[in-house]
Parts: sequence; C-alpha cells; structure tokens
Amino acid sequence: MTENGAYDYDVVVIGGGAAGLSGAVSLARSRRSVAVVDAGEPRNAPAEGVHVLLGREGIAPRELVARGREELRGYGGEVIEGRVVGAAREGDGFAVRLADGAILRSRRLLVTTGLVDEFPGVAGLAERWGRDVVHCPYCHGWEVRGQRIGVLSAGPMSVHQVLLMRQLSDDVVFFAHTAPPLEAEDRERLAARGIEVVEGEVAAVRTDGDRLSGVRLADGRVVERDALAIATRMVARAAFLAELGLPVREHPMGVGEHVPTEAGGRTAVPGVWAAGNVTDLMAQVGAAAAAGTMAGAQINGDLVMEEADRAVERMRAQRPSAAAAAADL
Ligand SMILES: Cc1cc2nc3c(=O)[nH]c(=O)nc-3n(C[C@H](O)[C@H](O)[C@H](O)COP(=O)(O)OP(=O)(O)OC[C@H]3O[C@@H](n4cnc5c(N)ncnc54)[C@H](O)[C@@H]3O)c2cc1C
Repeated sequence: MTENGAYDYDVVVIGGGAAGLSGAVSLARSRRSVAVVDAGEPRNAPAEGVHVLLGREGIAPRELVARGREELRGYGGEVIEGRVVGAAREGDGFAVRLADGAILRSRRLLVTTGLVDEFPGVAGLAERWGRDVVHCPYCHGWEVRGQRIGVLSAGPMSVHQVLLMRQLSDDVVFFAHTAPPLEAEDRERLAARGIEVVEGEVAAVRTDGDRLSGVRLADGRVVERDALAIATRMVARAAFLAELGLPVREHPMGVGEHVPTEAGGRTAVPGVWAAGNVTDLMAQVGAAAAAGTMAGAQINGDLVMEEADRAVERMRAQRPSAAAAAADL
C-alpha cells in the first residue's frame, strides 16, 4: 500500500523478464512499493543458456529470472505470477486487471512484456527454435561455429545476418526462399565471401533424431545443414494495453512492431514507461536489463518531483508565511 492508501503500489511492472525485474529492483531500492506481474514466459526460454551477459555467461534463462525475483524480494518488492489482460487510467493512476480477476492499483506503470517472434511459414522451425534454429549470432553463434549453417531469407536483415554467420563458419549457404531477388551488390558480397545462394522455396526443416539435419525445398531437393538461422518478425506484446492508448507502431527498420519511447523509456501515455524488447526489438538481455534500470530510475524521479510539488502545495496551504519565506531564500 502506498502512503496515502489510494493505491496498492507506487508502480506495477507488467512483465518480469530482464527488463521488468531490473526496473523493479531499482524502484524497490528507492523504497518504492512495487509489484511485478509475470506470466513466466521469457523470450529466450527455449535456449539452454544466456550468452554475452557479463558475469553470468551461460546461465539458464529461467535461473536468471529466478535469481532476479529473489533479489527483488530481498528489497521488499513483490512478484505476482499471473497475466495482465488490461489496464485503464483511474484518477491520477492506473487499474491493472489480471486474468484471475484481481485488480492492482498503482501510480505508475512500467511495461516490460517483451515480444513475440513470428516465424516464416516453413514447417518445423518453431519446434527447433533456440536450439539449432537460431536468429542471433551473438546469442548462439559460438555454439554453431564451424558447422554447416544455412540462413533463410526472411526479412530486410537477412543479407546482413548471413554475412554475420559467415564470420562463424566457412560453410554458409543462403536460402533465397520467397524473398525478392537479391540486389546486385548483395549478390556480389555473398559471392565474394563464398556464400552459395540456393534459389527456390524452402518447405521444411529435416531432422535426424533430435538434431536438425537439413532443409527440404518445395521441389524436393534437400540441402544438408547442422543449423539454420532465420529472422523472425518481432511483434511487441502490448496489444492488450490498447485501452490505455499505448501506441504499437511498425519499427523503422521493417523488422516488426514496437512501442515507441523516448530515451529513458517514457511512452506517449503519461505515467507509462516501457523497457526491453517491447520497445527495443533488438535488445539482448544486458541491454533489456539496463533499459529497465533506467526506466525504474526515471519513474522514481518522476514520483519524487510529484511528491515535492505536492509537499509545496501543502506547505503553502498550512503555513503561507513560512512558504513565502522559503521561496524568498
Ligand atoms: C531463442 C533465444 C535465445 C536468446 N539468447 C540470448 C542470449 O544468449 N543472450 C542475450 O543477451 N539475449 C538472448 N536472447 C534475447 C533475449 O531473449 C531478450 O533480450 C530478453 O528476453 C529481453 O528481455 P525482456 O525483459 O524485454 O523480455 P522477456 O525476457 O521476454 O520478458 C517478458 C516477460 O513478460 C511476461 N509477460 C508478457 N505479457 C505479459 C502479460 N500480459 N502479463 C504478465 N506478464 C507478461 C512474459 O511472460 C515474460 O516473462 C535470446 C532470444 C531468443 C528468442
């Protein structure tokens, strides 16, 4: 309960991944009452370990979240396992509705719900996602280094992606799939780096036991591969907050949809901040955590200013002469 009792919390954080938990810790350490509502599906859950995270290299994704929850509880923050289904403005704050019917009232909101990876229409991709069907050279590249890698053309970043993968293996092929023909200069770049372009629509990934073994094209050809990189379309998980007027916009790079924010995470809706993949589609765990920390600090700063202004109003109402003297100093 907050000081004046009108709200359950200073801040409700919707989503408890790296961004949400980091934001909540920074708020709790500023003696803010904070609850994180989390549905427990971090984006990287299918992966064995988190990489390029200094000090926690290789930690299992769910272990990282579990540690974050414990750290938050250590500072008095709450974690509520559940799903937020909507939120509405109520007075100066917000009423957040959970799937089980509970309502949480808070002065500010931090939205850190991440994104949904939408797969290109090729059978078998989702089943192998995060293992030998991958997207990010920094997250999984080392694990597939030196292997026979395929890159499925699936978006505006696919040529860049195949060049990044080439850094990791000498045996990389580019599946043109259904994408428009390559620009002449891209075709030249791929040829110069020894990347074969396989024309034709890809129908499915093939497996051998629990391992990817290749790619089958619609015309029946099979190309043997150990790993396949794809670019998913990344869509912010924020449609359920439409009632708040929180905008979800096409990302300028054409890679999906995000919630635009100012630096620091302030959204177009007063009192609502966003951090992590819901706004920055490209953020890895470290960047999502850093953005959450920054948003938490900004929310605390916003509340501090509101409280100072209210204290001034009270001082003026109660002791007009003292207030005037303070203003003259
Ligand atoms: C397969 C894979 C492997 C990856 N590997 C790495 C890696 O090795 N290193 C790295 O740095 N990055 C990696 N990433 C990227 C990493 O997943 C993201 O950077 C990170 O998850 C972003 O954190 P986040 O807090 O913004 O979102 P998330 O971690 O996705 O957390 C969002 C949370 O919000 C919850 N949520 C969503 N909607 C609601 C709702 N309505 N109510 C309540 N809760 C809700 C979700 O259940 C989830 O727990 C990988 C991504 C993928 C897909």
